[in-house]
Amino acid sequence: MFSIVTGGTGFIGSNLVDALVKKGDRVLVIDNLSAGNKDNINKHIRSGKVEFLNADLLESGWEESFSGADRVYHIAADPDVRASAGAPKPVYESNVSATVNVLEAMRKHNVGEIVFTSTSTVYGEAKVIPTPENYSPMTPISIYGGSKLAAEAMISSYVHTYGMKAWVFRFANIIGKRSNHGVIWDFVHKLRKNPDELEILGDGKQSKSYFSVEACVEAVLFTIENSHDTFNFFNIGSEDWISVTELAEIVVSEMKLEKVKFKYTGGDRGWVGDVPKMQLSVDKLKKLGWKPSTNSEDSVRKAVSTLIRELEEEKRE
Ligand code: NAD
Repeated sequence: MFSIVTGGTGFIGSNLVDALVKKGDRVLVIDNLSAGNKDNINKHIRSGKVEFLNADLLESGWEESFSGADRVYHIAADPDVRASAGAPKPVYESNVSATVNVLEAMRKHNVGEIVFTSTSTVYGEAKVIPTPENYSPMTPISIYGGSKLAAEAMISSYVHTYGMKAWVFRFANIIGKRSNHGVIWDFVHKLRKNPDELEILGDGKQSKSYFSVEACVEAVLFTIENSHDTFNFFNIGSEDWISVTELAEIVVSEMKLEKVKFKYTGGDRGWVGDVPKMQLSVDKLKKLGWKPSTNSEDSVRKAVSTLIRELEEEKRE
């Protein structure tokens, strides 16, 4: 199978590329390296299993590379929920316009299948928790969430109009190997700078579900094999949640620190557009025969120790 992965040098994209190579796919990664790192896929490029095209999906010149592809994993996006309030138009372009450009290239080159990484934030502040896929009304409260819901809608309209097939995945907080942003990254970096005190955005009571990137990629590939509608849409996450204060305590313990003073900025959320309580229902996916292989706490512990190891390795290089 010839698979294209947009955003394949980034955090989730590069972990997906590892799994696709293992599965035996021929892979083309398209990435503009705005947030990704080519080192994440260099070993596959060297072994000849992955090709890399440095291109921006908002510009032209890459579309011809879709010729002959069976499936596009469209992972490229601006994933920063917090920063999205400060730059709505560029977020719209990165997350919606780029998706439409990918769909257009698929249409022109007869690529029949798209896999899209969406997010829990499309639900907004859901009144039903754990939130199922059919929850409505879907009223995102962040620019990022709005852009992802708009992209989902464009994908649905293209696959129904042009005889394509889509798998849309609404992720909880995905964490782990090669992560380059998010609360764990933030806490570990802050504590390396100042091991005595940690600033926590909000009141620390925000509770969210976290899930390891390896388990997430496994769930994505399992679902594609086992769901066959025109527009398939599934939540992916763990079946529990933890508070930001609990998460901070895990980070402190994994970093073997003591007596860290937590300094809260206050309020029930970290930033404008933050959803204070998030846990996704994964019953729809469980009905297909899948089970989450890990929970929030274990995912966080593993992500912290992995990040510490990655930072130590970086320092040695
Ligand atoms: P990331 O920033 O590591 O990866 C995004 C990649 O896309 C980067 O390599 C970046 O260089 C590339 N990119 C961005 N704009 C591009 C453009 N115009 N042209 C070409 N390449 C471009 O982020 P991530 O955390 O790995 O997120 C991957 C996907 O998963 C995103 O679609 C994100 O919205 C979604 N998602 C992530 C999470 C999470 O917890 N990390 C949760 C829900 C959804």
